[in-house]
Amino acid sequence: MQYDYDDQNIFAKILRGEIPNKTVYENDHALAFHDILPQAPVHVLVIPKGPYVSLDHFARDASPEEQAGFMRAVAEVCRLTDVEKGFRAISNTRAHGVQDVPHYHLHIIGGTQLGRMMPA
Ligand code: AMP
Repeated sequence: MQYDYDDQNIFAKILRGEIPNKTVYENDHALAFHDILPQAPVHVLVIPKGPYVSLDHFARDASPEEQAGFMRAVAEVCRLTDVEKGFRAISNTRAHGVQDVPHYHLHIIGGTQLGRMMPA
């Protein structure tokens, strides 16, 4: 699999400071910010600072330090937001997964009772 990163995507622009964001948490390897169109009371996006297009790209090519930094950021988002009763983490990926922004991001969605992901 070849992953081609487009550095003009909107999250790359946020990382370069060209577009504002509502930051929830930041460390050396990851940035977490509020989704601009929240689907629930808590809707935060966690992104790596490196140029990875998707979850599978990040899982394959990111260094252990980048991966740990990213996961620690997820933990901090969960600590800082109202998700004690639970949440959903989603990584939409490429066309079948309906991914709009080609920079890896994990949606953390919660703060209310969610419906089943796949209706029975
Ligand atoms: P996806 O469809 O998984 O690629 O999700 C992309 C997400 O990015 C959507 O939930 C958008 O609402 C969100 N989004 C797009 N532009 C911005 C922005 N400038 N700031 C925050 N969230 C954004």
